[in-house]
Amino acid sequence: MGFTAIGFDIDGTLYANYKMFLHSLPAGLFHPRLSWNFGKVRKEIRRIRPVHNFRHLQAQLLAGHMGMEPEHAFALMERFLYQSWETSFRGIKPLNGVKAVLLDLKSRGFKLAALSDFPAARKLEYLGLTGMWDTAFSSEDTQYLKPHPEPFLEMASRLDTPPENILYVGNSYRYDVLGAKGVGMCAAHYSSRPKPRSKADFTFFDYKDLRDFILENSGI
Ligand SMILES: [Mg+2]
Repeated sequence: MGFTAIGFDIDGTLYANYKMFLHSLPAGLFHPRLSWNFGKVRKEIRRIRPVHNFRHLQAQLLAGHMGMEPEHAFALMERFLYQSWETSFRGIKPLNGVKAVLLDLKSRGFKLAALSDFPAARKLEYLGLTGMWDTAFSSEDTQYLKPHPEPFLEMASRLDTPPENILYVGNSYRYDVLGAKGVGMCAAHYSSRPKPRSKADFTFFDYKDLRDFILENSGI
């Protein structure tokens, strides 16, 4: 190990996912068919490659499921999923200890990245987590969602750090832990209990434990 840079997933890792779910419930209730099919499309699109225009392909897949024109599907997603989802985010707070640990790591000279499958910048603003990131971006920008290697390699390149010196922190075993390990990064799994035979280098449920683990394995 020997970490000099730490990457973070956002949803369910920097804030509790269920709070987001409660806030976005009205959208799910008013547009259950849209939400349901969008969930299916997000799973499907992870298996497709190459992808040249992520949002366009996503609209085409959704249109197929919903029996409508891709332009209509694109507009529906923008309005009810991407936009309303961002406004429903107001008032959501980071998990306990997140901000203090990030500021501490930053002050010790670690490079920090935020990498989410959804647009990242405004979410970090709403969470009050700005000014500490060396890079913050969405895997959509690379045309591929996690656990595809591309978003993780893009993060390493933006951090100008070899994968083996990066620890990636996330709550999804399949997308975050296996994705990061797949490109040679270390992975910390945010979870109340370790997965049996977990490939994660560390599992934690208290950000202070994560900070201790990082400092014990620091490459700075
Ligand atoms: Mg997550």
